[in-house]
Amino acid sequence: MRGSDQGDKLHAGRREAAVQIGVRLHVEGDLAAGAEVPLDPAQAHYLRNVMRRGLGDAVRVFNGRDGEWRAVISALGKAKGAVTAEAQTRLQAAEADLWLLAAPIKRTAIDFVAAKATELGVSAIQPVFTRRTAVTRVNADRLRANVIEAAEQCERLTVPEVLAARPLADVLAAWPPGRRLLFADETRDGKPIAEALAAERTHAHEPWAILIGPEGGFAPEELTRIRALAAVLPVSLGARLLRADTAALAALAVWQAVMASNA
Ligand code: SAH
Repeated sequence: MRGSDQGDKLHAGRREAAVQIGVRLHVEGDLAAGAEVPLDPAQAHYLRNVMRRGLGDAVRVFNGRDGEWRAVISALGKAKGAVTAEAQTRLQAAEADLWLLAAPIKRTAIDFVAAKATELGVSAIQPVFTRRTAVTRVNADRLRANVIEAAEQCERLTVPEVLAARPLADVLAAWPPGRRLLFADETRDGKPIAEALAAERTHAHEPWAILIGPEGGFAPEELTRIRALAAVLPVSLGARLLRADTAALAALAVWQAVMASNA
């Protein structure tokens, strides 16, 4: 929703839409009745110039710890501002502990996957470098901005953590005991994903991770290493070979459909 200034008509339209859906912002500060928390410069700009909000206007805010609060804008300048929390609108609730491990793909695709994975309920995104990963750098700040915006828009009470990119071998070597690894196995030798997960439903509240490979697929020694993990569950996503971004979203959607409750 953060956009550039494109004239009054557009602003009026945006403002009408915003009144219906409400402005919802992620903040860092602690939230409690009467607590004033600062806005960052981009948020101040967004409220003032894009949404045309001013002092006393209502917004909703969340910080990942204290639920969601109705707040009013209590300061608003060009590059800074603050909101004061008034009343809690939602309690913080437990969420799935689900990591997405994915090899970085080109910029638009990784931004897309990060935002959609946020909507689909991941708790952390761990970019992993594999033998055949073509991309060598990950802009964690930009990814984080993307997941925050997606969390604001999809009514989440948390923002997924964006972890620093690491080699897959290191992540596997330090694999946390007790975290199940749903492995999207492009050889399609694994069980169909929904069937494999249905047998795991009693473990839905335990820690999970989903591993998706790069466009080039996994190298043979990587496949051996992944399959050797005690916690691994190799699954097939169907008869066709999916692009990495499609595979990530398909796996997350199925995980959510089979394992998550609405509570
Ligand atoms: N180039 C590789 C394919 C990579 S597809 C090859 O030719 O074999 C990118 C990733 O998406 C894979 O590493 C895998 O994790 C996932 N994926 C794609 N299609 C899949 C399927 N049908 N079942 C399971 N995983 C799949």
